[in-house]
Amino acid sequence: MSIIYVDNNATTAIAPEVVEVMQPYFTHNYFNPSSMYQAAQEAAEAIQHAREKVAHCLGHVEPDQILFTGSATEANNSALFGVAQANPKRNHVITSAVEHPSVLEVCQEMERRGHEVTYLPVSHQGEIDLDAYVKTLRPDTLLVTVMMANNETGNLFPIDQLAEIAKATDPGILVHTDATQAIGKVEVNLEGNLKQVDLLSFSGHKLHAPKGVGALFVRRGARWRPYMFGGHQERGRRAGTENVPYIVGLAKACELATQTVDEEQTRVKAMRDRLEAELLEKIPMLEVNGQGAERLPNTLNLAVHGIEGESILYELSANGICASSGSACTSGSLDPSHVLKAMAVPFTAIHGSVRFSLSRYNTDADVDHIVAVFPEIVANLRRLSPFWDNAKSCLTNV
Ligand code: PMP
Repeated sequence: MSIIYVDNNATTAIAPEVVEVMQPYFTHNYFNPSSMYQAAQEAAEAIQHAREKVAHCLGHVEPDQILFTGSATEANNSALFGVAQANPKRNHVITSAVEHPSVLEVCQEMERRGHEVTYLPVSHQGEIDLDAYVKTLRPDTLLVTVMMANNETGNLFPIDQLAEIAKATDPGILVHTDATQAIGKVEVNLEGNLKQVDLLSFSGHKLHAPKGVGALFVRRGARWRPYMFGGHQERGRRAGTENVPYIVGLAKACELATQTVDEEQTRVKAMRDRLEAELLEKIPMLEVNGQGAERLPNTLNLAVHGIEGESILYELSANGICASSGSACTSGSLDPSHVLKAMAVPFTAIHGSVRFSLSRYNTDADVDHIVAVFPEIVANLRRLSPFWDNAKSCLTNV
């Protein structure tokens, strides 16, 4: 049975073009870019070209503002702790309740170290209330860190407006965004829509580069200090021998992403919209988490009342479909997702969420197959579910 992969917000297939450009740095030029001989200098040049390419893709920014990391998790840690270290006089951080754990748990750690953190709530649609946000800004606000796009629901956040408001209130406030799910799917332009953003993080493996490489943009002049010590690499801003093949691959993936962003917003979005419309038509008591809000073009997070996400995923897998659940099943916890909790998804559906996240490698036939099997999976599981009768009687739209 061939696999239908619709879990692209978890990770993506490496693009063949990316594999191709990485190959020589595994086999021929495996040298340490800090070494003095000519071949090693070529590796160092490859990193510099990659930096220029990434900078170009993010809106023609100056390349020395990009530093390569081992992941978006590292980039987020580096952004937040780096800003905190450089600005000891400011104490207040604003974030959202629906950030990825690599921001949320750093904020929690910052609280333990004495910072005050405001967690902006979201509406049932997953949107941030801008008026409420304005009221949270304080004279001692150090940082606003809000993701561009949510990995679970695909909700898009108005980081341009959040940044504009913060800077108009106090130009000393720094703004960071986790753009991990946004790059390649929506506009990410640090000299355009994001020109007020000071720091931006992202990861390779969400845009068809390998896992284990990411990047952090730090705008020149932004008060930030390095977080990793122990080497002069990345001009002392991220110690550790550089992962040359992965950095080269990341840059190629960024280049491809700028070429395919239109396709994401047209062909991929059309597939997602058809999947959404056909499943809503065929399955009773099904809702879209985040419906009505601005969302990524590739993501569909469904609230399936009355059954468990895990059993849905198991059945999908048995039918060759790789998707993911909104609940925290992968972490071994039975707690519902913090994102869906923040969106007040009703208890009849909070354990029954399924996320389909598409990519440019999906086809209409993939959508046909999901539409053909998913309604029956849901119907069968509901027949067996001890929660289904209860869920039906709690909701009226059956
Ligand atoms: N931020 C977001 C929004 C993500 O979706 C992810 C990956 N799930 C990360 C950060 C962490 O990325 P990485 O796996 O590169 O650490």
